[in-house]
Amino acid sequence: MSKLHLEGRRLAFFCPGCECFHVVEGNWTLRGEAEKPTIKPSIMVIGEHNCHSYISKGTIRFLGDSSHKLSKQIVDLPEIEEGKWLDLF
Ligand SMILES: [Zn+2]
Repeated sequence: MSKLHLEGRRLAFFCPGCECFHVVEGNWTLRGEAEKPTIKPSIMVIGEHNCHSYISKGTIRFLGDSSHKLSKQIVDLPEIEEGKWLDLF
């Protein structure tokens, strides 16, 4: 089990604030093992919700400009079930 799925320069994770997957492309960096990843810089997603987060040591911290229920909270990044991300790529 892992908290991220990586394919080339694309990274997918399940966002507990938006309750959907986000796919990030571009100049992110990843540190730490798959169970406790740290991603830099912050991740900004504009969609049904605005979602601005930092992934750090396996947790996800939502900044105050997020428009969903987990704004300003820190929660564990969910594990991704094997195969669940497949239709994202
Ligand atoms: Zn989100």
